Amino acid sequence: MGEIWIKEAERLGDGSIGGAMDSPSTPGRVVWHTTESGAGNASFNSVGSYLRTVASEPHLLYDPTTDRLGQYGPLNQSARALKNDGSTRTNRTGKVCIQIEVLARAATPFTGYWKPGPNFKALMRAVRSWGVPDTWPAGSCAPGASRNRTTWATKGGHYGHCHIPGNDHWDPGNIDRNAILKAAPGGSSTPSGGGSTSTSGVSRAKVTINGLAYGYGATGAHVTAVGKALVAAGCSAYVDGPGPTWSDADTKSYQKWQKKCGYSGTGADGVPGEASLKKLMGTLPKAPAKAPAKPAVTPTVDLSNLIAAARKDPGLKQGGTSHAADVKIVEAALKAEGLLAAAYAADGSFGSTTVAAYRKWQQKLGYSGSDADGIPGKASLEKLGTAHGFKVKA
Ligand SMILES: [Zn+2]
Repeated sequence: MGEIWIKEAERLGDGSIGGAMDSPSTPGRVVWHTTESGAGNASFNSVGSYLRTVASEPHLLYDPTTDRLGQYGPLNQSARALKNDGSTRTNRTGKVCIQIEVLARAATPFTGYWKPGPNFKALMRAVRSWGVPDTWPAGSCAPGASRNRTTWATKGGHYGHCHIPGNDHWDPGNIDRNAILKAAPGGSSTPSGGGSTSTSGVSRAKVTINGLAYGYGATGAHVTAVGKALVAAGCSAYVDGPGPTWSDADTKSYQKWQKKCGYSGTGADGVPGEASLKKLMGTLPKAPAKAPAKPAVTPTVDLSNLIAAARKDPGLKQGGTSHAADVKIVEAALKAEGLLAAAYAADGSFGSTTVAAYRKWQQKLGYSGSDADGIPGKASLEKLGTAHGFKVKA
């Protein structure tokens, strides 16, 4: 669990802006916005209350000229500064989707004049506490940025509003993406870890590429493989030779490779990027498929069966026991949650009592209104399954 309220931030509003995330099993991410306003305390106060009036609160409001930081809502729930992408609730995508409004204008990138201080470091510390990697999966925030749906659905890291599918805003403008990551030490997913830079000035940032971690402290056979490839490419800074744990020597060796590839400045910081890694290894190394933790014994619930049963699909017998096996697993879990009386808990019929119990489960997760209608949805069912030992087939 990461930081929910940043202790350095002042509280804005009543602390309640959103609800549970829809895809908590996908990586955490950050979305940067600009308010298209001036900065300073008067703007902070007026824009801060305007965002509440129009119900478009981000999690955080940041003044790049004074380092003032405010927080509207808990980081483990959704904010509401994005538009939905059709039926996909972009505000609720990911383990966290931390939205930051910077008091600035997209036309004049704030990284050109900002003065990040202790509060910005606190902001980045909180972001990293959720395992959000120091990467920009959708690339540049310059005009014409890509709004790739697959990238947004699957990759953790930092995004601009300009990268979000189904949205038409182009903020935060062409900011220096590396400056954001480098303005605060601690560029790994370890919240209390040391600085992002070792005493010898070598970056200790960590990245995840294709499901594998690289950078200081990353471990695995893939780290050894990169080390060997670096040696083969004549880019060794090793004293003892490459091993399975990424050290400063790996970073220095990788830096030589980046320079050989023509990168410079922050592009040659020794922390792998997708392009240079692919060039080095010939192909992008991929995380091996994980063996299932409990083979063959975890029951699977079919979401569409459940929905059909709950809606009393005309194809089913009225109040019937079709899909009873799926329904019974869910009923047992609802009973274990204390939401369904034992008398109804094993009838295998998704009747009105079970619908009412499921609605309570949705409400328990923070859903309300039409999101808490008692008809199972993927996210709420997966949470129930995680808590009570079943898998969901969507
Ligand atoms: Zn925006």
